[in-house]
Amino acid sequence: MNLEELLSKAENATSPPEIPLGGIPKQRLPSWGRWIIRILYLPLLHLELRTEKIAKFFIRPPFIQTGQCKRRGNCCHYIIFPELQGIIKKLFLFWNTEVHGFYKREGLEYEVEGKKIHVYGCRHLRKDGSCSNYSFRPKICRSWPLINYFAYPKILKGCGYQIKLRPPYAKKHPGLKIYEGD
Ligand code: SF4
Repeated sequence: MNLEELLSKAENATSPPEIPLGGIPKQRLPSWGRWIIRILYLPLLHLELRTEKIAKFFIRPPFIQTGQCKRRGNCCHYIIFPELQGIIKKLFLFWNTEVHGFYKREGLEYEVEGKKIHVYGCRHLRKDGSCSNYSFRPKICRSWPLINYFAYPKILKGCGYQIKLRPPYAKKHPGLKIYEGD
């Protein structure tokens, strides 16, 4: 399965993927430790988001996001992380699994452009598609759908958001349709 097939699977899923054999793995970091880290990290995260917002106000990306989340939960069920090595991998896993609560989905490993990627789920996703960690959710959740300056936006069809070209770009490229979601 390549990345497009994986994204299509995530877009079209009508039920959550299987949870790992033996259940969602327990976090080893005690709850108070997670909370201290998340509380300390929150102002830095807001500062980073605010800075990005200011930068995007002055230098606007070519895409605009409209619409709103339908709470299908599909993007939270299929979180893609690259495979890393060594100390970076340990830090990455600590940050994303112990602090933020993601867990690896078994049997969902892919190779994209020669690099291995893994699919993670999130223990904070509720059955109704809402987030039980909304105020403390990590940056990856706040920045999705991804709108970059020099790449096509990343979005899951059917999520409720639409991404369009800004008017000046739309005039220059009248035939270019990005993603008219629903
Ligand atoms: S933290 Fe919330 S928004 Fe982020 S993946 Fe988990 S449930 Fe979804």
